Amino acid sequence: MDLYEYQAREVFKGYGIAVPDAAVVDHPREARHAAELLGGRVVVKAQVKTGGRGKAGGVKLAADPAAAEVTARQILGMDIKGHTVRRVMLAQPVDIQDEFYVSYVLDRAAGTFLAIASAEGGMDIEEVAATRPEAVARIPVDPSEGVTEAKAAEIASAAGLPAETADVLARLWQVLVREDALLVEVNPLVRTVDGAILALDGKVTVDGNARFRQARWGEASAVRDTAVHDADAEPLETAAAAKGLTYVKLDGEVGIIGNGAGLVMSTLDVVAGRGARPANFLDIGGGASAQVMADGLDVILSDPDVKAVLVNVFGGITACDAVAEGIVRALDSVHLTRPLVVRLDGNNAARGRAVLDARAHPLVEQVTTMDGAAARAAELANR
Ligand code: GDP
Ligand code: MN
Repeated sequence: MDLYEYQAREVFKGYGIAVPDAAVVDHPREARHAAELLGGRVVVKAQVKTGGRGKAGGVKLAADPAAAEVTARQILGMDIKGHTVRRVMLAQPVDIQDEFYVSYVLDRAAGTFLAIASAEGGMDIEEVAATRPEAVARIPVDPSEGVTEAKAAEIASAAGLPAETADVLARLWQVLVREDALLVEVNPLVRTVDGAILALDGKVTVDGNARFRQARWGEASAVRDTAVHDADAEPLETAAAAKGLTYVKLDGEVGIIGNGAGLVMSTLDVVAGRGARPANFLDIGGGASAQVMADGLDVILSDPDVKAVLVNVFGGITACDAVAEGIVRALDSVHLTRPLVVRLDGNNAARGRAVLDARAHPLVEQVTTMDGAAARAAELANR
């Protein structure tokens, strides 16, 4: 889950990373007031969860409160890479001497974390990374050791950053660890003409799986606000999350339900291999109670793109007859309007199939193999 810049900025402040004074508003008239309080001249910044706002015209300097109102009116409602701007942040402008890039990311391939830093930060960092990779330092960070003072100095020096940035590098690592973030990025981290080091833009991606231990993501926190009222979030994903389901919306037409992330992933592949596109990822987990099955079907059937649904279950600890009972009960509470192909295998498969046969729903078909079921679902979806 990505945070908005203004939320990342609040998080940074809590860790002693200097940021410009700022305010967030959702109406041009409020922008005028906020600019007055901030001293008149402000930078008006679109709050959307995508980069490249500067190049898209979503970051503009306003000379006085009246100009701030005009600029906020221009930026509010703007579309930036498919994201509608609903809020702007007004920040005190800073006289920039140098712009740097710093981030920590999870390097899945290497099984460790990576510090990425460059003395050529700012809006063209992607181009710098593509054309002159040597200008971007990539230093592995062992999570059990973290970013000590010495490590921070090593990262700064490798990237050609001034020594004063080491303090921010160490604090940013604390943000990553204590906020359970998968990514923290500051671009630009600036040195002002007065020699101060300030984070002018921030991106933080928190790991939703850490929700259970992040009490501060609870009531009234900025992160909760993001989770519940996120205008950019996929509505079906929000609805699924509210039911405790692991659901990811995709672009296709075959709705998919399976038990176990690995089986669901391979189901997506097999459906794609049969010439159809999966509409989603949905893992109902090990239990697969009637309620979970009903909730899962409910979410999938509220996706208007879905033309056929494939349920692919391999009974392990949960027996197939229990899963079949779940489907039957789900059929009582959910109004099935599109064909449902079911493949049951594993523990008690024969009994499970018998349960579904007995229900004899006109839109439900059973196929005993995964490949056959995927082929049938693809065929129904492509009709
Ligand atoms: P992004 O384009 O979405 O990454 O948005 P940023 O917040 O990084 O802003 C883009 C660029 O605007 C930065 O690289 C800076 O060059 C510039 N900028 C942002 N805030 C200020 C500021 O307070 N003063 C000055 N002079 N430039 C700023
Ligand atoms: Mn930026």
